[in-house]
Amino acid sequence: MIIQANAVVSVRYILHSSQGMDQDRTLVEESNEENPLTFLVGSGQLIPGFERNMLGLTIGDSFSFSLACDEAYGNLDQEALVRVPDEMFKQDGILDLEILRIGNMVPLLDRDGNQLVARVAGIDGTEVLLDFNHPLAGHDLHFSGSILSVRNATEEEIEHGHSHGPGGHSH
Ligand SMILES: [Zn+2]
Repeated sequence: MIIQANAVVSVRYILHSSQGMDQDRTLVEESNEENPLTFLVGSGQLIPGFERNMLGLTIGDSFSFSLACDEAYGNLDQEALVRVPDEMFKQDGILDLEILRIGNMVPLLDRDGNQLVARVAGIDGTEVLLDFNHPLAGHDLHFSGSILSVRNATEEEIEHGHSHGPGGHSH
């Protein structure tokens, strides 16, 4: 069968990213036969641009396509860069230098108690610049891989709005 709405698809793929005019590509993630990506088409589990490029393919087909950042995780939002006092990273008055490192992802709670993750983008004196953008915001994505399996979703999967693994049993 071909890939269409309400199909459960397993793929192996390699994802690279690049930024702007820069031709350099960075490996983001890789998924192989032992650890395939399995998803229910049309459920919104994946970014729409990825699913769109899967439609009409069938088992054994390979794919290679790029998505511009606005089709993927969006453009970098300057308003998602926030300066906070380094007090936030003090435990008993001492800076936690294990956590407070440029590039580290730090878990935070917002005013409503929701969990957020920010990247430490800079440290300037007693101020810390936190970046709440998705790590792939502003990146173009380059996917290549192949289709490992395609099957019809079970009624339960359609009801739940997600796939239940390649064999349809696990949850
Ligand atoms: Zn479920």
